[in-house]
This record gives sequence, structure tokens and C-alpha cells, in this order.
Amino acid sequence: MAIVFKFGGTSMGSAENLKTISQIIGKKLNQKPVIIVSAIAGVTDLLLDSLKNKQSFEIIKQKHLHLLTEAKLDSNLLNAEFQELKELLDAVHALRKAQSKVADSEKLADNVISFGERMAAKILAEVLNQKGISAKSFCSWDLGLTTDSNFGNAKPLKESFSKIKQKISKLKIVPVVTGFIGKDRHGEITTLGRGGSDYSASIFAYALTASALEIWKDVSGLYSADPRFIPNAKKIENIAFDEAAELSYFGAKVLHPKTIILPLQKNIPVKILNTFRPKDKGTTIFANSKKVSQGAKAISLKKNMTLIDLHSPEMIDQHGFMAFLFEVFRDEKISVDVITTSTANVTVVVDKPNPVNLQNAVKKLSKLFTVTVKPSLSALCIVGKGLAENGKVTSTILKTLSEKRIPIEVVSIGASKLNMTLVLQEKYGIKAMQILHKKLIE
Ligand code: ASP
Ligand code: MG
Repeated sequence: MAIVFKFGGTSMGSAENLKTISQIIGKKLNQKPVIIVSAIAGVTDLLLDSLKNKQSFEIIKQKHLHLLTEAKLDSNLLNAEFQELKELLDAVHALRKAQSKVADSEKLADNVISFGERMAAKILAEVLNQKGISAKSFCSWDLGLTTDSNFGNAKPLKESFSKIKQKISKLKIVPVVTGFIGKDRHGEITTLGRGGSDYSASIFAYALTASALEIWKDVSGLYSADPRFIPNAKKIENIAFDEAAELSYFGAKVLHPKTIILPLQKNIPVKILNTFRPKDKGTTIFANSKKVSQGAKAISLKKNMTLIDLHSPEMIDQHGFMAFLFEVFRDEKISVDVITTSTANVTVVVDKPNPVNLQNAVKKLSKLFTVTVKPSLSALCIVGKGLAENGKVTSTILKTLSEKRIPIEVVSIGASKLNMTLVLQEKYGIKAMQILHKKLIE
């Protein structure tokens, strides 16, 4: 059984952190570590920029050379990558000059940004060897990852899983694998979407039925609230997959939301740990919710929400109104976050709708409903297993807000019973989060 590690861009960014990584891996050699890396922090953005600005190439090169020097590695280690990237970019700039438009731009961008992870993997493998751990860098495709051809947001093809397992089982060294990137069946380089190295790591963990997936970042895990607003926010040690999913969709941007889907299917725990504070306990996300405690665990706040209230007395005892309404939202590409209904009313809360689409939707909906739109709202999401079954928690939430005279626009508790969402005017959002955090969690 293997264990999969993922190190993010800031974890890879200094010689000191690279040394920490080698110590972390050194302790787990008997567990067959497989390492997935992101590009060094900021490099993916610079690579995207290099498609337009010639100067960015030099900055990227210097950044990597600096790290090689700092880590006392051979300064020629990345020469082949520098040269290949330079030639690619020169061709792009020449084309652009000649015809001012470059065909297949997504495909080209994926090719260019793939260099970030390719260089990072080579660096880490070299550091491990320098510290006496036999390691080798691989591009994900050399270890079996094949994706569809959806450039910029590709998904793994099913055949990848067995191939990855087969290829990795033959290795006698520690593989250091590029996150974020893959190749399609035609051999073209693809990427899995920004921040996608977490997702890559979950693909490898799934393929190998790993004992755990450890994601090493620059934070010590998931917190009970955003520490920028709640200085007393607490680290969550154990959380269930479905609770974590609620949090990652509702604004806690620690994990790429897709990361937990695959490990969940095989009961693989996902740990979030901090390379800067390797002794911190971190957060473990379990598939089995019996391992986590009940009650309110975290509160997240999402701003810029818009409420659309739809009223129609004709809705009473009729059908098809919802179908109509959802069709409108689908056609206008508006994502619905919260919905509540009563006999003659439907209230929908949507996330940052495009103004033109919103206007179109209102126009269409006005055929059947009286429509009221309220912008500038915040959604406060309180997450925790068993939250809704526990009448005490829900009544505390409502009582606390009414005592502080904070009006609630919408309340929603789903049948999954692990979250309660309150929609409030934006001016009350942070204050409500602070008082509820104090009452329920501190
Ligand atoms: N380097 C890629 C990005 O910046 C992937 C990642 O960091 O996970 O989006
Ligand atoms: Mg990153």
C-alpha cells in the first residue's frame, strides 16, 4: 500500500522547505511514498503571462536558478526545460507578430504552463537524492495518467487508474510526479484546472488505493472560520467528507473542491498539513463520519449573493413551476446556492450572477411570477454533523441573531442535516459570523 503526498507551490518555494519535505518523506519511506508537486508559487501565473510578455520568461528562469543555487543543486539541472520553453515562447511571439492571433490558444497555454510542474518535480527529486533518498521525477503521463482533451479543465480517463497502479508498483525509487498536468490520447498536454495539483494527488491516491493522502500546504488545516475575521478560529482536527465538501464550496478555499471525491469512494483519509509547521497536527478528512464529532464545527461566509424572490398565487396546487424556473437558471448559466419554497413563493439565492444574465432571467421569470431582486447579501453557512437534528443548536442560532437585532432574509436546512444556511444583508455578515462563532464554537 502506498501513501500519497502533495506539496503545494509555497511548500516548494525555498531550500529550507525542500529540506523539510525531505525529512517528512524520509520518515515514511517504509510506506511507499508517492509525491505529487505543484509549480513553485507564482510560476503558473508567470508562465501564463509569458505568452504575452517576453520578459516573464527571464523572471521564471531566474526564480528557478535562484532556488537551485539556494538548495546547492546543479545549476544546469533545468537547462533542457529552459531551452524548450524559450523555443516555444519565441515561436508564439513570432506568430503573434505575424498574424496577431494564435490558433488553439488553450492547448498552447496548457503546453506552456506545464513547465511549472515539470521543473518543480525535477528539483524535488534532486533534493531527495541529495539527502540520500533515491527518487526520480516523472511527468504524470509517463506514469499512466491520460485525460480527455478538454484543455484548461481536463479530467482523467478511467483507463488511467489501472495504468498508474501498474506503473508505480514496478518502481523501486520514490516517484516525484507533476501535479496539475496530463496528456490526452493524442499526446497533447492538458491541465486539470487552476489549483489542480490537489486533484492530481487524489487521482494517484485513488489509483493506488493509498493508505492516506497528505496534502502539505502553508496552512495547518481547516479552521472553524476564516482567521482573518475570527482571530479565535479553531483548527478542526477531524471532519467528515460531506462536512468538508460543504466548507470547500462555501468559501473556505483550502482544498480544490474536486479533491475529496475520489478518495471518498475508497475510504482514503485526506490530511491537510503545514510544511512551515510540520509538527502541527493538521486536519484529517474521513469518509466514515463515525470518526468525527457531532455539532457545529465551522462557519463560513460567502459575499456578493443575490436573492430573487418569486411570487405567484397561481402556483398553489399546480405543477411545472419549478421546472420552468430551473430551466431559466440553466439557460442563463446562473448557479443557485440556496432555495426555499412556500405555497405561493419561491426564494432563490444565487452566487455573483452575471448582470446581463440576471436581467434576462428576471425578464423571463416575470412571465409567471412577480419578481423581486435583492442584491448585496451574504450567506452564512454553519456546518456540522447532526446540527439540524439538534434543536438546541438551531434555536440558539436564531435566538442569538434576534437578540442582536440582525434580520434574516432566508434560512435553509437541508435533509442532509449537516448545514444551516442563513442569508443576511451584507452589512451584518461578519458581525453575525463573529457572534455565532463565539456562541457555538469558542
Ligand atoms: N500550479 C497550478 C496552479 O497554480 C496547479 C496548483 O497549484 O495546484 O494553478
Ligand atoms: Mg497552487
